[in-house]
Amino acid sequence: MIIAGNFKTNHTRSSTFSYCKELDSLLGAQKSEVYVFPSMCALPYDDFAHFSIGVQNAYPACNGAYSGEIGLEQIQELGINTLMIGHSERRLILKEDDELCKRKFDFFSQYGMNVFFCIGEDLQARRDARVLDVLASQLKSIDLDYSRLVVAYEPIWAIGTGVSASLEEIKETHRLLKELGCKKVIYGGSVSEGNAKDIMNLEYVDGVLVGGASLDLKRFYQIIQQGEEI
Ligand code: PEP
Repeated sequence: MIIAGNFKTNHTRSSTFSYCKELDSLLGAQKSEVYVFPSMCALPYDDFAHFSIGVQNAYPACNGAYSGEIGLEQIQELGINTLMIGHSERRLILKEDDELCKRKFDFFSQYGMNVFFCIGEDLQARRDARVLDVLASQLKSIDLDYSRLVVAYEPIWAIGTGVSASLEEIKETHRLLKELGCKKVIYGGSVSEGNAKDIMNLEYVDGVLVGGASLDLKRFYQIIQQGEEI
């Protein structure tokens, strides 16, 4: 399983560092790949024994005049090799479009980075039965054969709402994404220690991306343990 925690704009540098240290001491040689995506100013060196650090966003350049952004040089200095692209909060709040997401994917994949590429439909698209069209267009021009690509399916209406997609909806959407050619697909949207096991047990699901529930180390650790039982 792939189990990732997205801290968004939560935790300080100090609380992130203690969290990561404690997580590393709790984890052993687990089967799952575990990732933590801290906020930018709290990024530690990626030198933990049992999990990897990822960045929630970066600009597609090595360095340059892109105020407020970080580039490849800053990421590499920390030994980080994992990047999230296209989280719905960036798409909606920061108006990041498919074209910019594609530029990020093309740039960072050239350097062999692990890419967590986030896609997801809004409630209207689900009501109008346009889910597959929306997801396919978000993935358009992304090389789905890139071996370090993880597609994170996160229905927008399920993020941070406490209402996850149903198991049937998750399974069916992941099945369609696999049919489209996605190799690894993880689910995100109100995953908690209460539903993670059932979600990870589903066919076509390769793991979970956890927001709110990852902020609490005990809850995130429980989810990781559930992944180990699968
Ligand atoms: C996320 O933001 O990636 C996410 C899945 O959030 P939450 O688990 O809080 O819904």
